[in-house]
Amino acid sequence: MLSKKREIELSELAEFIASEYCPVGMVEPSIIAEAKEITYCFGQYEESFDGLIEYEEGSFHIYINSNNTNSARTRFTFAHELGHYFIDEHRNALLNGRTPSHPSHTDFSSKNPVEIEADFFASSLLMPESRIKQDCFRQKFNFELIERISQKYNTSITATVLKLMSIDHHPMMIVCSINNKIKWFKQSHDFPFKWLKFPKGKVPTSTLAGEYFHNNKKYKKSVPVAADDWFEYVPEKNYDRYFYEKCIYSDSHNFVLSIVWED
Ligand SMILES: [Zn+2]
Repeated sequence: MLSKKREIELSELAEFIASEYCPVGMVEPSIIAEAKEITYCFGQYEESFDGLIEYEEGSFHIYINSNNTNSARTRFTFAHELGHYFIDEHRNALLNGRTPSHPSHTDFSSKNPVEIEADFFASSLLMPESRIKQDCFRQKFNFELIERISQKYNTSITATVLKLMSIDHHPMMIVCSINNKIKWFKQSHDFPFKWLKFPKGKVPTSTLAGEYFHNNKKYKKSVPVAADDWFEYVPEKNYDRYFYEKCIYSDSHNFVLSIVWED
């Protein structure tokens, strides 16, 4: 997890670039790349990466491993690679040849701080803080708000939640589970519980995500779950503290994304 201080630095950097090159409407990574004379191409590459930035013979080039130039995923990958260019430490490493290239994956599971920074930069570039703060102003927090923002900025639900977490709009948590195992999770700095239950390394059965893996049960709407369903070390007085959980499912990947927040 990035420090609050680093999040603020990256968010301000991204906001500055967004307002410089795409002051209104949606932020288009291609406009920014062109302004900086960074060449780019979309294609189907055999290698396993979503995006890659290279520095060769005095110029930068970005590869995006997709033919779909305007999906939420490719926009994010493009913005992530721009992060490696705009974040001083990343660019200097590329210029000095300390890192030959960055094969990056757009699945938020990386523990590499360089990748985490580029991901955070990407969500902040596509959803500049001042713009989403306006969108959230006096809005009740629920899944519909997340959906509205993700549609407005053409960003994935995951990227949108991660950005919303950083503006402290509402305490929330996101959990990505695959094959009945928690792959990664993140909580906003102000989320009240830190420790997830991992019974035998599995997703807790009484959560919505757990119900999918154990009973193949899916919910269209958000459903209340008790603090004790998801978290360890819940003080007795908080046993009945309720949270909402909303799940997004992918049967083909045996995958569930849970978004958890308090009402
Ligand atoms: Zn990367």
